[in-house]
Parts: sequence; C-alpha cells; structure tokens
Amino acid sequence: MSIKPVVALIGRPNVGKSTLFNQFTKSRQALVADLSGLTRDRQYGDATYEDKSFIVVDTGGIGEADDGSGNIDDYMSEQSHTAIHEADIIVFVVDARAGMIGADAEIGKFLHTLGKPVYVVANKVDGVHDAAPAEFYALGLGEPYPMAASHGRGVGNLLEVLTADMPEQENIVEPRGLKLALSVVQTWVNRRS
Ligand code: GDP
Ligand code: MG
Repeated sequence: MSIKPVVALIGRPNVGKSTLFNQFTKSRQALVADLSGLTRDRQYGDATYEDKSFIVVDTGGIGEADDGSGNIDDYMSEQSHTAIHEADIIVFVVDARAGMIGADAEIGKFLHTLGKPVYVVANKVDGVHDAAPAEFYALGLGEPYPMAASHGRGVGNLLEVLTADMPEQENIVEPRGLKLALSVVQTWVNRRS
C-alpha cells in the first residue's frame, strides 16, 4: 500500500465515474459529460471521510461496445490498466438503468483475477425499481451498493464502507511534497488533454 490507499474508479464510459469522483473529492475537477469516453487521462484527487483519507483515481472507462464482444484487452485502454494496477482498492461502477451488459461481465471477470478488494456500485438508481441493483450480484463481486451519484445519494454509505475497511491512519505522516507533486501531475495531465 502506498502512503494513502489508492481507490480506482473503473467501469464502462458514461456510468457516472466522474460524477462519483467529484462527490468523493467535493470538486468539479473531473470532466463530466454525456459524451462517452471523454475523460481520457487519469484524474487524481484527494478524498477524506472522518478520520480516513485516500487518493481517488478517475479513469476514462473500459469498453465502447455494449455487446461485450471480444476480449477485454481489445478495448481496455492502457490508462485503465495502469490505474487498476496502481490501485489498492477498486470501485467498479455499473449503470443500474442500463442493467448488466456483456462488457460489465467481462470487466467483472477481469477484476476477479486481481485479488484486490472490489466494491460494485450500481449507479443511477434514481427512477429505477429498488430491486434493479440486485442483478449485479451475478458479477460475483459481492453486494452492489445502490447509488445516485448525481444526486449525492449513497455516496456517504459507500465512503463509510470503503474507509471502514482501510487500516488506521493515525501513524501515517504525509510527506510534505506529496500534495504538491499530485497537483503538478494534475496540471500536466490537464494540459495534455
Ligand atoms: P463517466 O463516463 O463514467 O465518467 O460518467 P459521467 O460521470 O461523466 O456521467 C455520465 C452521465 O451520467 C452524465 O450525464 C451524468 O450527469 C449522468 N449521471 C451520473 N450519475 C448519475 C445518476 O446517479 N443518475 C442519473 N440519472 N444520471 C447520472
Ligand atoms: Mg468520466
């Protein structure tokens, strides 16, 4: 584990990863858009909940095709790969409105192989049946956490669960340069995109 746990937001484009990133970091830092795959570079942010803090990484999304055809490596971008391997914890965001599609199953299968903790978030539960998240049990990655990220619903509950599983951090002293280094990296990433 790094100094702070690193939490990567993984999932198909347009499921609400950047919206959740903004909720976690309480910022408008990530680019939120209706256009699929617009956030091409990774975005790093700081998230704090009660006495725990972590680094959250937003990604552009895995898979453009909705039919789940092909091998995951065919459509998983280099940066999603890097984010997944850098992460201590994965938050796998799925779309409860769209329901489970082939690409979700493919991503889920891949995440299984990592041996890292994975939390499934069923986003966009606003206006869907209460039972909608249940179908994502089939991913075999545990209980899906219902969320409406754009309304801030379910965010606190997820933060509570995520941070409860993180080790105590009172002995963690953040090196003074880290915050600065992160912001320099962020500026650099923003300029390139
Ligand atoms: P990303 O591609 O996974 O990063 O998805 P975004 O965060 O950019 O969101 C894609 C679209 O879904 C945007 O129009 C968001 O406003 C919308 N969205 C995000 N969260 C929710 C939600 O909880 N409910 C609804 N109805 N729309 C949402
Ligand atoms: Mg995004």
